Amino acid sequence: MSKTLAIIKPDAVEKNAAGAIIEKIQSAGFKILGLRMLKIDRSQAGVFYEVHKERPFYNDLCDYMSGGKIIPIALEKDNAVDDFRKVIGNTDPEQAEVGTIRKLFGTSKAVNAIHGSDSDENAAKEIVFFFNASELV
Ligand code: UDP
Ligand code: MG
Repeated sequence: MSKTLAIIKPDAVEKNAAGAIIEKIQSAGFKILGLRMLKIDRSQAGVFYEVHKERPFYNDLCDYMSGGKIIPIALEKDNAVDDFRKVIGNTDPEQAEVGTIRKLFGTSKAVNAIHGSDSDENAAKEIVFFFNASELV
């Protein structure tokens, strides 16, 4: 078994899509280990997305992710990182496959409803950003 971090992003929380998104995640075979709803400030968003700090979209991304409530979810499944990337689809909802969360609920390449970790190493770092290990047992 391995772990990944999902985040239901502010746009999806705001449009009341969280329930439908969680249903899709569970139907795809992921076990929810931890889940919370919170608002992060801009500097926390900046730390979370530090790997992108040189990218042109970094400032807008930090504004977006700190602009409303988010729902981080720690997930477990075999091959969790890659399988979850398939469930969410391409970064750009227009390019995402039919039935993926981003195709269903995303608005644009920037405002795309959900986050998924991109490697086991980053999943571990991202999960501790939002959860204490003792909460997930
Ligand atoms: N993003 C953006 N413009 C881009 C690429 C990414 O606004 O050209 C935003 C988008 O919200 C994306 C996040 O930055 O989900 C992180 O980008 P990444 O390349 O890691 O995409 P992801 O792993 O989320 O598919
Ligand atoms: Mg990424």
